[in-house]
Amino acid sequence: MIRAFTIASGKGGTGKTTVTANLGTALAYYGKETYIVDVDVGMANLGLVLGLENASITLHEVLAGKAKIQDAIYDGPHGLKVVPSGISLKGFQEADPQRLKDVMRDLVSRCDYLLLDAPAGLGSDAVIPLAVADEVILVVNPEISSLVDALKVKILTEMVGGTVRGAILNRASLENTDLSKQKIQKVLGVPIIDVIPEDPNVRRSSTYKTPIVIKYPDSPSAVAFRRIAATLAGIE
Ligand code: ADP
Ligand code: MG
Repeated sequence: MIRAFTIASGKGGTGKTTVTANLGTALAYYGKETYIVDVDVGMANLGLVLGLENASITLHEVLAGKAKIQDAIYDGPHGLKVVPSGISLKGFQEADPQRLKDVMRDLVSRCDYLLLDAPAGLGSDAVIPLAVADEVILVVNPEISSLVDALKVKILTEMVGGTVRGAILNRASLENTDLSKQKIQKVLGVPIIDVIPEDPNVRRSSTYKTPIVIKYPDSPSAVAFRRIAATLAGIE
């Protein structure tokens, strides 16, 4: 069974953290034991969007060899388990991304699904999560810069022996300047798993430090997040 997914994009700001928090919450809502991990150790946001910014032990301390993973696991909505990263620069500098593989092995043994919220860019902190997951899910926006960066991540994933499951097209609108789903699929050469619309309630829900699937469950993007979670979990 495919269990560990890395949510990646190359470009920053495409919606990786939003997708991770909401897919994780939706999988937990469906009764799946789900862990989400902020492997964006430089620009850690996952804890912020879930109200865990004051967590004292985080993935930083675990990757620095100063703490055990079980002490960095916090409760999220619907029984979701969250491993945030810290926001200090010192913590980032001391975190060794090479330790991620051992952390993953431990977490995978505890859960049904593990989602890794990856960093932007192509540094070692971004590349290692592409190799250690069972499958990589690309988050793409309907614009050329996002597409080009996602293509680089796809190629890099294959170079390091990873597998790309497909792409989620996030922030889709009805603007005619948007790249089409067909075009994105053709350029990336991977299936579009689903489309999440541009939705002002996404930002609104983040001010409440609550995923949109909980704060605005009937919002169009929340419906899409639940549908994607159901697809991943094989629930129809
Ligand atoms: P990343 O983790 O890739 O850097 P984030 O998840 O932090 O991206 O999202 C970047 C910004 O885009 C945030 O302000 C978030 O609220 C917003 N956003 C993400 N997805 C959507 C969406 N479908 N509709 C509207 N805003 C969105
Ligand atoms: Mg992020």
